[in-house]
Amino acid sequence: MSVRVRFAPSPTGKLHLGNVRTAIFNYLYSKNKKGTFILRLEDTDAVRSTDESIEGLIKDLKWLQIEWDEGPIIGGDYGPYRQTERYDIYQNHLKKLLEEDKAYPCYCSSQALDKLREEARAKGVNFIYPGTCRRLTEKERKEREASGVKPSYRLKVSPHIVSFKDLIRGDVSIHTNLFGDFIIVRQDLSPTYNFAVVIDDSLMKVTDVLRGEDHLSNTPKQILLYEAFGYEKPNFGHFSMILGPDNAKLSKRHGDVSVEAFRERGFIPEGLFNALALLGWSDPEEREILKKDELIERFSLERVNKSAAIFDENKFRYINKQHILCLPLKDFANMIKPYFVKEGLVNESFSDEEEEWFLKVAEIVQKRISLLTEAVEQAKVIFEFEPSLLNDEIKAVLQEEDCLKVILSYALKAEKRDLTTRENYISLVNEIKNETKIKGKNLYHPLRICVSSSMSGPDLDQLVPTIEIGSKLNLPVKIESTSQRAWRYIQFLREQGYKI
Ligand code: GLU
Repeated sequence: MSVRVRFAPSPTGKLHLGNVRTAIFNYLYSKNKKGTFILRLEDTDAVRSTDESIEGLIKDLKWLQIEWDEGPIIGGDYGPYRQTERYDIYQNHLKKLLEEDKAYPCYCSSQALDKLREEARAKGVNFIYPGTCRRLTEKERKEREASGVKPSYRLKVSPHIVSFKDLIRGDVSIHTNLFGDFIIVRQDLSPTYNFAVVIDDSLMKVTDVLRGEDHLSNTPKQILLYEAFGYEKPNFGHFSMILGPDNAKLSKRHGDVSVEAFRERGFIPEGLFNALALLGWSDPEEREILKKDELIERFSLERVNKSAAIFDENKFRYINKQHILCLPLKDFANMIKPYFVKEGLVNESFSDEEEEWFLKVAEIVQKRISLLTEAVEQAKVIFEFEPSLLNDEIKAVLQEEDCLKVILSYALKAEKRDLTTRENYISLVNEIKNETKIKGKNLYHPLRICVSSSMSGPDLDQLVPTIEIGSKLNLPVKIESTSQRAWRYIQFLREQGYKI
């Protein structure tokens, strides 16, 4: 039978790392097995489920390129894929269990139950429903019904051990005494999570239920429901938790870990997808940088770790950087452009020249960032120039007599040249070298200082032509040419008392 898995989020907030990692593992597993990946919205919590969360969830999954084969929007043979649209199905299932005497109505008030819960807590024991309403005679039931009390419904659970083989954790056994007769349908006729999930997973023909470890304690209840309905059980597998670097469960304390926040921080989908796939799974050859297709090909549940995964933002950034490097230049340029538009550095719609020039800007930036949000900072050197003596290193360089010679020579020559190509720039530098007989770092340091006021940065033969082309364009903020920069630097040095 072909594999069918599902991702079944409750749309009660933003999609965060823990949830989306479950989605990714399900996705990779199904694609590896050439199976089906289903998206199902578990929106039965009328108070907490919102359309906004659903929209956010769909946007995040699409952004990460986690496409579903069946589910909201696209539909499928086993829909609807939204639980609030399946209430009649749940009611029919309840009816069947009641007819077969496998479930019963419970008229206990929430106050009475709270009292029992309180007593259990005081004794330090687990609260289990004592089965009061299970033992009601038909007459007693009728009386309660007549008094207008709306019942909830409970499954009859016999005391025994429920065992199953977890695909990740191995053998698991849990005694039903831990939970007793549990509620399957609430007073308002809404299904509980366990009830709806079993019905949906059965009717949607899910073969493997793969989810977070936080649901491990629900699995025995679900197994009892499969048995009550006479439905075939799927395989179960529970992924370990994700912890923060301090070994505490990943939460808001570790910063905003929603997918949206990662997108806003400048992660790209390929990078985040890869980083998430490594949270609890490892490649057979310990490779770390993998594209989606490679992850699909190499993923297996055998290599999913039983112990908790540790989230490390630096590793996420490192992986993201590698994926940024792999992007075709044009795509990368399109991705960073909005940040430049927002800063008012480039026009929203480009002329052909601007577009071509911006590719050069992007080429400089691409090698230097881990997050898209760092692009503007890394490109600042192209757009801005402020003469300074920044640090002792620059001051030391400027003490060299040769240095001042180079700067002056550059300023004089550059203003008469077209430096919009790498070749022209290199030939100018060679000319300065031949005339002044200055070479090596005594030549390159001063050049760098007078065009960028810094000791480090992109290669000059790439940077200078990019600045020069930019200076000729009609950008929102005028870019100064490198000769203007050099002259301003000279002026600045004179003000600082340098003899130049
Ligand atoms: N709606 C549940 C959740 O978001 C799904 C659990 C499951 O996969 O069964 O945690």
